[in-house]
Amino acid sequence: MVKNDPHAQAPADAAAIAHYHAHVYYDPATSRDRAERLRERIAARFPDARLGRWHDVPVGPHPQAMYQVAFPAALLADLLPFLMLNRDGLTVLLHPETGDDYADHARHAVWFGEVLPLRVEMFAARGA
Ligand code: ZN
Repeated sequence: MVKNDPHAQAPADAAAIAHYHAHVYYDPATSRDRAERLRERIAARFPDARLGRWHDVPVGPHPQAMYQVAFPAALLADLLPFLMLNRDGLTVLLHPETGDDYADHARHAVWFGEVLPLRVEMFAARGA
């Protein structure tokens, strides 16, 4: 074990995660139709997921147009493979909601497809 290794501490408890966000990115000019189809499929299959508004221009830390899907941890095991199989080439960001916005987006995030450069410095500036 490496001395002073921050990863040597006790593992974080995933049971503390109550909710997740999936952010579905699209290009308003070329892939909004695919994003719409995925959105309809999520709505039909996961009524407990909350679909956020369409953001055709970048908002917050997100560098591209997107909409958010907020869902309880209990749906993860079904929603994650659903996104894997149905994202249709779209980039999706999946992150937990632990209460630490910076860590959730910068360190705990999982990407489907391309990894986009999030503007996480906005969280660092706020939380410091
Ligand atoms: Zn989010």
